[in-house]
Amino acid sequence: MKVGLIRCMQTEDMCPGTTDFKVMKEKKCAFEGVEEEIEIIGFVSCGGCPGKKAVARAAEMVRRGADTIVLASCITKGNPIGFACPHAEQMKAAIIGKIGEEITILDYTH
Ligand code: SF4
Repeated sequence: MKVGLIRCMQTEDMCPGTTDFKVMKEKKCAFEGVEEEIEIIGFVSCGGCPGKKAVARAAEMVRRGADTIVLASCITKGNPIGFACPHAEQMKAAIIGKIGEEITILDYTH
């Protein structure tokens, strides 16, 4: 699995993605059951509200080999402050529209 990870820019100051990397390394949570090696192609932010830059950033990670785009839990679950992104669904739809449905999208990390 070649992962392109997208995170919330608003939470960068409070979370450097430690748990995202831990669950990928340990193949837990969203990565439970993945048997192949997990390679990280990129770790980017959405670019700030309303997240439009996530579309081009996802496409660039696919261009560089990502077969899976992951929206980190800061986006979809609101970690670590319990404040989910109000644009998450639109962001996801726009990413799928750009990169196509053959690329797997994971909705959270942990
Ligand atoms: S668009 Fe969503 S994910 Fe991006 S910074 Fe704003 S709240 Fe965070």
